[in-house]
Amino acid sequence: MSQDSLRNRRAPLAIAPGEFRKLGHQLVDRIAEHLDALADGPVTRAASPADIRALLGADRPLPRDGADPDALLREITELLFSHSLFNGHPRFWGYVTSSPAPIGMLGDLLASAVNPNVGAWILSPVATELEAQTVRWIAELIGYPEDCGGLLVSGGNMANFVGFLAARAAKAGWNVREAGMAAGGARRLRVYASTGVHTWVQKAVDLFGLGTDSIRWIDVDRRQRLDLAALRKQVEADRAQGDEPFLVVGTAGSVSTGAVDPLPEIAAFCREAGAWFHVDGAYGALAAAVPGAPADLGGMSQADSVAVDPHKWLYAPLEAGCSLVRRTDLLRNAFSYHPPYYHFDQEAINFFDMGPQNSRGFRALKVWLGLRQAGRDGYLRMIGDDILLARRLRDSISNFADLEPVTQELSITTFRYVPCDLRASAGSEVVAAYLNWLNQELLTRLERSGEAFLSNAMVDGTYVLRMCIVNFRTTLADIEALPDLVIRLGRDLDAVSRPLRLPSP
Ligand SMILES: *Cc1c(COP(=O)(O)O)cnc(C)c1O
Repeated sequence: MSQDSLRNRRAPLAIAPGEFRKLGHQLVDRIAEHLDALADGPVTRAASPADIRALLGADRPLPRDGADPDALLREITELLFSHSLFNGHPRFWGYVTSSPAPIGMLGDLLASAVNPNVGAWILSPVATELEAQTVRWIAELIGYPEDCGGLLVSGGNMANFVGFLAARAAKAGWNVREAGMAAGGARRLRVYASTGVHTWVQKAVDLFGLGTDSIRWIDVDRRQRLDLAALRKQVEADRAQGDEPFLVVGTAGSVSTGAVDPLPEIAAFCREAGAWFHVDGAYGALAAAVPGAPADLGGMSQADSVAVDPHKWLYAPLEAGCSLVRRTDLLRNAFSYHPPYYHFDQEAINFFDMGPQNSRGFRALKVWLGLRQAGRDGYLRMIGDDILLARRLRDSISNFADLEPVTQELSITTFRYVPCDLRASAGSEVVAAYLNWLNQELLTRLERSGEAFLSNAMVDGTYVLRMCIVNFRTTLADIEALPDLVIRLGRDLDAVSRPLRLPSP
């Protein structure tokens, strides 16, 4: 390297301002076109992993030489816009994945332009305070005390992990952060959750050293809600054998059916039992203030910690989860270390001290922008409309002889395709097995068709199609198109499959 080239350094990653402006405008124009055309195209063009790898040239080595950024952006934009699955499509209703808000897309661009490190206040003065405000606003929206502690994380799993670790540090009864789970004479920590809880619970006890055997699975009632009497009985039995029931998880909107556990009763029980009450509200918490939402969501206000997912019902682009803990010191109690190489003001908010991450990105911006653009009323209306549309689907399903409604909670409606001549015998073992197979295969075909995208659930052993609307782009016309689509695919499939798979009686 000559002195000269270092003095007039031209880094391979540099882009001159005029060029940057041109590339940026082109990209934004292309994104706008994509959003404009989204509803008219397929939700996905079902390609195989091999197809995608070929399109990407997945097997080639890292190019030795760089490339022109203009050509590069055009290339990857076309690949993404022609071969992705679009959860922003009005007929995407799978899992709990939201349609991303446009202002969040712009927010992510702005966030990376400023690139604050939201681990420490001094490195991110505006961003840190903006994140703290976002956390307070989310608490306000779900009816949680606004002076709570909290921070944004990557998603629901991480938000639940943060609550879990706060609970473990507060309730273990020994210094678990120092001595670990195997501390001499330590009692066995027990976690309680319904059988409908999300798999984050297994990951948490596994990752944090308790082991999956520490989970006590509590039965659900007919509406898939945690059975309080069964919880009480199990906690008493565990206490009697010397275990420590330290954490009860309630779900505010289960991932399968949207069921809301009896949160006020669980809260009262936890107070009496001295256990930490954590609510997994990744999906449903944000519906708390919507008129007509389940009253039990009000029990969240009494939880020791709550997990909420802004990348679900706040329609923030991935990723954004939010963990709320009743008091900030309970977060520090679980995460704080003060290494000699950090000289940060102890009075200021330093998020590295309250969660698992060290360097942290500015994910709050996209969430904050959405909250400001729509406001409280705007969100209540969007979430309320999602719920109304899911209920409309449920109502319309009853009008079709070949469709059977199964559950409806929050914005999740489950149903299945049952050819009407099989309805009478649907309880028999062979027919039930055939119907499970039929609906599973139907779902695969529906997803591949690109005409709509659902996912599935198992409800009491029955395989059901599951529609979850976390999508402010969905309209009534989209909902009304679904039954005919399912019936058309179901009839075709049944006609060819039944002779092969269902022995005639
Ligand atoms: C989505 C979801 C999770 C997991 O959240 P991620 O954002 O996917 O990590 C956990 N619990 C419930 C109830 C959920 O709906």
